[in-house]
Amino acid sequence: MTLAYLGLGSNLGDREAHLRRGVLHLERRAVRMVALSAVYETTPWGYSAQPPFLNMVACVQTSLDPFGLLDTCLAIEEEEGRTRPFPNAPRTLDIDILLYGERIIASPRLVVPHPRLADRAFVLVPLCDLAPDLVHPVLGISLRTLAERTGAQGIRRWAPPPHWQGPCPPQG
Ligand code: ADP
Ligand code: MG
Repeated sequence: MTLAYLGLGSNLGDREAHLRRGVLHLERRAVRMVALSAVYETTPWGYSAQPPFLNMVACVQTSLDPFGLLDTCLAIEEEEGRTRPFPNAPRTLDIDILLYGERIIASPRLVVPHPRLADRAFVLVPLCDLAPDLVHPVLGISLRTLAERTGAQGIRRWAPPPHWQGPCPPQG
């Protein structure tokens, strides 16, 4: 079993429902929730003419290897109606592997730690809810320090850490 951190984001449709369904789908597929961050509303990055995001981070424990975990995340995104018309496009649900234990992976399909983790406040701020003292395995710098360096602009706490359990709500 490995402890991993997943970043979830949504800025299309019922954003909270997509996050919730993402968490519940993960739990059905060998990905046990250890802790959830608060939910943050964040300014879009890369392509700004789109609705604000809800972002959160899940600390999970899983028996899946990193590529199995990636396939699981991508399959759940697809179930939530994710399409990819262009890079950084609005999305119903994005699930990224931020950290997988202390593993360092650089393959065409999967880069871990997530390559844009270190400079994105919308990931670092929720991640610091759960693991501020964790040290980035490549940079050797704590997540708290990385978060402070970003200045955490455009990040607003939107809801406390959710307690999502039970059946998956229907997609609406
Ligand atoms: P982004 O999340 O950067 O907006 P996408 O969600 O469209 O982009 O993902 C595009 C591809 O990024 C995925 O198909 C996956 O193969 C690749 N990828 C590489 N590293 C990671 C990672 N750590 N987590 C999730 N996807 C990753
Ligand atoms: Mg992604």
